[in-house]
Amino acid sequence: MTEIDRLVARLRRYQGPVLTFMEVCGTHTMAIARQGLKQLLPDTIRLVSGPGCPVCVTPVGYVDHALALAAREEVLLTTFGDLMRVPGSRPGSAPAPSLQQASAQGARVQVVYSPLNALQLAREHPESEVVFLGVGFETTTPTIAAAVLQAEAEGLANFSVLSAHKTIPEAMVLLSGAEDLGLAGYLCPGHVSVILGTGPYEPLAAVHGMACAVGGFEAAEVLRALVALVDQVEQGTPRVDNLYPGAVRPEGNPRARALVERVFEPADAAWRGIGVIPHSGLAFRKKYAAFDAALRFPVSLPAPVEPKGCRCGEVLRGVLDPVACPLFGRVCTPENPVGACMVSSEGSCAARYHYTLEA
Ligand code: SF4
Repeated sequence: MTEIDRLVARLRRYQGPVLTFMEVCGTHTMAIARQGLKQLLPDTIRLVSGPGCPVCVTPVGYVDHALALAAREEVLLTTFGDLMRVPGSRPGSAPAPSLQQASAQGARVQVVYSPLNALQLAREHPESEVVFLGVGFETTTPTIAAAVLQAEAEGLANFSVLSAHKTIPEAMVLLSGAEDLGLAGYLCPGHVSVILGTGPYEPLAAVHGMACAVGGFEAAEVLRALVALVDQVEQGTPRVDNLYPGAVRPEGNPRARALVERVFEPADAAWRGIGVIPHSGLAFRKKYAAFDAALRFPVSLPAPVEPKGCRCGEVLRGVLDPVACPLFGRVCTPENPVGACMVSSEGSCAARYHYTLEA
């Protein structure tokens, strides 16, 4: 009997009321779908995907803002690749624009692999305003903060960031109280926890009664974390178990967090499908306001319009299985995405599409 067989057998021995656990990490969502782990679970254990994909939770208004910046002659817009195909607002029957389309029509939009690449572009193009689209969770923000500090040290005045950064524990707290979800606990994110450590999840267990387990991405690592969650529920002792100790230290990475805290401060942030969550975003501190693209290039935009028929919001809250969206796989596919959850490589809809329809 393999370890995976033993772990699955343990989960199948669970006989109590249905338990719903949520993963809040896009890499977990893809790993779980790729390895077919949900199919191994008994009917008494549900694992739903939450708002763990940073591109997916970025509101359509941010894409509209990015498109408005891309339209400015002096701007060289830089972004991670996932954002390129996310549709912006689609008023009436007009086709939804995306950065990819803007680029095809002549806007200067460049995919980069790191904000440091954007910094290099700022050095090479002093005549341009290089704007980096800052979308990401705790794993991404330290490098963005480092890029800002480097720009400050070099006196690079033509580099700025349009910040839509988000922090995940606040969303977890909010969803822990959602009656329509009825969560029993969280498979806590692997990569984010490398930075955060386990401390930020303690209130989820102590105050909100959520079972919490940090897990890795291999099948056995995910299943070990699920077993820990079931153990906590059966024992009636919600706590934070670290089942990924090779990568996640209890204290996380204080140096990375210090970098972020130097440049950014907590701010309310809008999440697609969820709304504004207090203190779940990162805004530039006053000292670094010169690097804030939202301040440097203010735009006046009409109210954002979500893609018609797209139910990303419910998918991101974990209350709708992607296949239950009427557009899934028919109108909305990775080749012709209607919503962000089908675009991003970490999106729940893309994961279901690639590993169910294409499997
Ligand atoms: S399948 Fe497409 S339209 Fe439906 S929720 Fe997902 S991204 Fe939106």
